[in-house]
Amino acid sequence: AKSQGLGSAVEFSQDIGLQVRERSHLLRDLRMAFDESQLFLTYQPKVELATGRVVGAEALLRWRRDDGYLVPPDRFIPVAEQSGLIVGMGSWLLQIALLALQRFRAAGFPNMHMAVNVSPVQLRQTGFLAVVQETLRQTQSEASALEIEITESVAVGGLEPVIEILTRLREMGSTVAIDDFGTGYSSLSYLERLPADRLKIDRSFVQSLERDDHGSRIARTIIALGRELGLTIVAEGVENETVGRLVTALGCAEAQGYHYGRPMSEEQFLEWLQVHQK
Ligand code: C2E
Ligand code: CA
Ligand code: CA
Ligand code: CA
Repeated sequence: AKSQGLGSAVEFSQDIGLQVRERSHLLRDLRMAFDESQLFLTYQPKVELATGRVVGAEALLRWRRDDGYLVPPDRFIPVAEQSGLIVGMGSWLLQIALLALQRFRAAGFPNMHMAVNVSPVQLRQTGFLAVVQETLRQTQSEASALEIEITESVAVGGLEPVIEILTRLREMGSTVAIDDFGTGYSSLSYLERLPADRLKIDRSFVQSLERDDHGSRIARTIIALGRELGLTIVAEGVENETVGRLVTALGCAEAQGYHYGRPMSEEQFLEWLQVHQK
């Protein structure tokens, strides 16, 4: 039993060595990808459930390697966050996303907003607000055209500075969405204390509504809580009409998901808008 224990300890440290090496390769490749324009954005529509009208889009980052392989964001974004690369990437993609929004708005959707995912490191970076203001000015966008999506992990490292930044963003006229609530180290008090406009219900909870299992009770509870706090509730990952009806009945005002539209290139999104004009 003793040698077995030692053996698995050796294996374990080899695993970690492998992970560290993979990570550093990934980071090297990611820096190169950023320099060589292998990164691009896709846009997913967000619709108002009562009318089916498009209210906004969420910008989702993509990395297509030279060999055509799409690296999943869940793999490379943590590496970008830990290395700090996310800060530069985040400023770049904010500009791209707001320029795309100008085109969407000009195509007959003048009230659409663009939601951009912002990592905790990026949000806490000194100068974040200045970058946002400068980018809004450069792209001639109204502050209200921009929504910042944050996750509850922003709370790690202290809530006070985060509350300050989010308050300033909202004073400027931008909106804030809390993403993936309930999937991490949630605290109900974060939900109450974070200055926000929207609450996005993670697709794992949304999809469980159809199965009516444990997750669906969590979904119902989070929706009820969010409504109580006066937040606009957005259901994520709606893949069929049944779930669309369920979330509407539970009081979600807006939804995103393959049932309405997948993440699309800027050109595809413009075409999608024409077809879905209401
Ligand atoms: P998220 O912000 O929760 O984004 C929603 C994810 O759900 C996206 O995955 C989207 O493609 C996917 N999705 C949307 N509708 C459906 C559906 O109906 N069914 C299913 N199965 N999936 C759906 P994606 O694009 O792979 O992004 C994964 C995560 O990566 C995002 O989760 C976000 O946390 C992060 N991410 C993506 N882009 C950025 C970015 O620009 N900056 C930062 N900081 N994070 C980003
Ligand atoms: Ca998001
Ligand atoms: Ca989410
Ligand atoms: Ca997520």
